[in-house]
Amino acid sequence: MSEPVSEPAVEAEKLDAADALRGARDAFVLDDVVYLDGNSLGALPAVVPGRIEDVVRRQWGELRIRSWEESGWWTAPERIGDRIAPLVGAAAGQIVVGDSTSVNVFKALVAAVRMAGDGRDEILVDATTFPTDGYIAGSAARMTGCALRPVAPAEVPAALGGRTAAVLLNHVDYRTGRLYDLPALTAAVHEAGAYAVWDLCHSAGALPVGLDAHGVDLAVGCTYKYLNGGPGSPAYLYVRRELQDRFDSPLPGWNSHAEPFGMRTGYEPASGAPRGRVGTPDILSLLALEAALEVWDGVSVDAVRAKSLALTDFFLKCVAAYVPEGRVECLTPRAHEERGSQIALRCDDADDVMKRLIERGVVGDFRAPDVLRFGFTPLYVGFADVERAACVLAETLT
Ligand SMILES: *Cc1c(COP(=O)(O)O)cnc(C)c1O
Repeated sequence: MSEPVSEPAVEAEKLDAADALRGARDAFVLDDVVYLDGNSLGALPAVVPGRIEDVVRRQWGELRIRSWEESGWWTAPERIGDRIAPLVGAAAGQIVVGDSTSVNVFKALVAAVRMAGDGRDEILVDATTFPTDGYIAGSAARMTGCALRPVAPAEVPAALGGRTAAVLLNHVDYRTGRLYDLPALTAAVHEAGAYAVWDLCHSAGALPVGLDAHGVDLAVGCTYKYLNGGPGSPAYLYVRRELQDRFDSPLPGWNSHAEPFGMRTGYEPASGAPRGRVGTPDILSLLALEAALEVWDGVSVDAVRAKSLALTDFFLKCVAAYVPEGRVECLTPRAHEERGSQIALRCDDADDVMKRLIERGVVGDFRAPDVLRFGFTPLYVGFADVERAACVLAETLT
């Protein structure tokens, strides 16, 4: 006698058959593990190894110094920025790729305070932020003579005032997966005459951001999560076009000079996106990222968002069907407009539970003290994966 097939398993099959993004999975190197950690390190796009081989052996090995021109190395930070731009709703010419997110938070925040000018001496920071943003904001505040005020994102509108210089916010909370209202919060910050700096690490590549449409001033994000750029791949910095001439970088390296090869003593900033550069670009990582971004050719971010919500809805449904009542508590909002592309479940012994899940081929991650985090990357996660993850979770918990 064959095993009875559960209702969720039947539904998973139907959902997979109707999935418009189903073919995108073939662009990745995956095995039969259910990989739900793409919000920490995206999977490897199949095109990357061959490209890196060419970059190393031919561009570096044979062309050597000529590659700065002939292989387009010198212009890579802005070229790749323009490749990311449509994914975050930005027109070309406003994004530069390089450095880590932490470093770009520093550049953006100090530049925002400098733009805000005299009399504005307070920085608001998301009190629940990914820690690095908070640490950097603390240092930026000390350097610029500002007070740093941690506030819950919902309290930001009430905390804004005539002294507010800049507000640093996370678009999606890395722990709970809560999505914040970027248009409304940005508008509130502007109403107060301050500047909004958004960290897009957990939203870019998972949902529409609309940087230009919502008048965001500055934004940063990493490329190794939903953008699959590889471990430690360089981050990006967005400076709204109208602000580019006023962007006064606290790290004015020679790469951001108007004439880098003029080798002059005096600093004169480049115009446009290159002003956000610092030193020599990390070409190997940059070009791995550039290859990785090819998986987005012909993919609409709206379709990605629709599938992301369907995946997380379905995961919650499977968890409700399989996991004993009360064993886990969902920390991620049920409302679509408040949900990113992950589900966070609070659970006793979460650390140990995640270890056992990973042993059984379901890879998510653990965030202290008691959170199981499952990231859903619509380009390569399917509905049968989701059903299997919930099923293994239930078995692990009972
Ligand atoms: C992942 C993440 C970072 C990572 O910063 P790095 O400098 O790349 O290590 C920063 N902020 C947020 C919100 C993140 O989710």
